[in-house]
Amino acid sequence: MTYRRKKLVVEATVWNKDGDHPNVTEFKMKGVSNLSKCLDCGERMHEHGMVNLAGRAIKVCPGDVLVHEQGESYPMKPAAFELSHKVEK
Ligand SMILES: [Zn+2]
Repeated sequence: MTYRRKKLVVEATVWNKDGDHPNVTEFKMKGVSNLSKCLDCGERMHEHGMVNLAGRAIKVCPGDVLVHEQGESYPMKPAAFELSHKVEK
């Protein structure tokens, strides 16, 4: 089966650092040093944030686009976001 995603208008914010959005908290993950480098973006983990999504902690890289839906936020890579979203006029 092939599906087309329903048209949906969402708010989104580019996240770069702590304090950019209240849904993002300081990055803290057991067993992951804040000085180690992220496998996705290459920045150190202390430059990252976290969001809670359905009870799971999700890493937010600097420059990720946060999509806000139904009171929660989730990060997307900018290229993936641009493929699936356009500015609502
Ligand atoms: Zn990263």
